[in-house]
Amino acid sequence: MIIAFEPEAPASAVAAAELLATRYPGITPRRYVYTGIEHTITELHLLGHTANVPAELFETLPGVARVVRVSARYRLVGRHDPREKSFGFSYNGVTFDDSSVGVFAGLCAVDTPEHTDRTFATLEAHGLVTSRAGAYKPRTSPYDFQGLGSACLPWLFELATKHGIRVIAMEVTDARHIDEIMSALAAPGITTGVMLQVGTRNAQNFELLKQVGRQKTLPVLFKRGMGITLDESIHACEYIAGEGNPNIVFCLRGVKTHLGDPHRNLVDFAHVPVVRRQTRMPVCIDPSHSVGSLRLAPDGLPDIFHVTGQGLIAGASMVLVDFHPEPDQALCDGPQALTTAMLPRYLGYVRRVRRAYEELVAGQPEDEGDGADRSTRSA
Ligand code: PEP
Ligand code: MN
Repeated sequence: MIIAFEPEAPASAVAAAELLATRYPGITPRRYVYTGIEHTITELHLLGHTANVPAELFETLPGVARVVRVSARYRLVGRHDPREKSFGFSYNGVTFDDSSVGVFAGLCAVDTPEHTDRTFATLEAHGLVTSRAGAYKPRTSPYDFQGLGSACLPWLFELATKHGIRVIAMEVTDARHIDEIMSALAAPGITTGVMLQVGTRNAQNFELLKQVGRQKTLPVLFKRGMGITLDESIHACEYIAGEGNPNIVFCLRGVKTHLGDPHRNLVDFAHVPVVRRQTRMPVCIDPSHSVGSLRLAPDGLPDIFHVTGQGLIAGASMVLVDFHPEPDQALCDGPQALTTAMLPRYLGYVRRVRRAYEELVAGQPEDEGDGADRSTRSA
């Protein structure tokens, strides 16, 4: 059972509910505090067998907004009420919520300081303060470039700081990487921040999930598992949130099946509204690793643009996209990286599709905006 309090409810209201809960044998109340963009929300989760705990008793307590009986599997990241707003969060001056789209463009794998400097300079010239950069690369073959590891972090963060980058999405594959990133970020003069990325190959590495959840400083970008169900991927996020870090963005990046050929993965952006309905997490799309090439459709737009449009028109609020100033020299995934010439076109495309999405949402009759099932209505 989850007791959700009104925004900014006083601590005394939470304490009163806690006291009441402890009167029931076998029930342990656990507090969760979500620091959202506009409000801080507290929830009290009653763990144990709650069938005999009367919800009405808690509903009448001062400061309680609602009581939800969760048969819900996603206790922490789940959306328990269709009208409930996503909380969102902010980190290092960047907002992660449903109100706008953030584009995180950058190197799949960090290679040279020169390419990194040029990448960040290009982003800065286009007004972007968010990027991606792989230092620890999980590769299928042990003979392929594995990333520069911690050695590149000092100059990477210096260059990001120089160009005003606020958040870099960076994959970690081991708990030690988190410590290495933390200590490099703590160097004097560094103003950039990192969002810890859990890659698709580690989507069920439960120890890694717990480690990224145990630290509460850096937000987490979770990439869905490429060979597991959506339900299993959302449960993986429960492992992260269960350790105390609710600042998670859920990223769709395609799933592995030859039915997706000739794309690198079967594009799964039809799941954007599903993840938004089932959870409170902002949803990111990764068109680069979904499609895997810059091939053009007959209309002249690359498939990467088209699938980005599909994700954005469905309500995604973050885009993770590969960019390289010299894709021919990239040590990983060069063929799918946007070029310097393509980036402004891409950003313009993102803005226009997002505007169309906002117009479509704003144009709905008010009584249809609550997420209720109205599948029987005609168009
Ligand atoms: C990446 O974003 O660099 C990456 C390896 O992605 P994924 O885990 O989705 O394959
Ligand atoms: Mn890649």
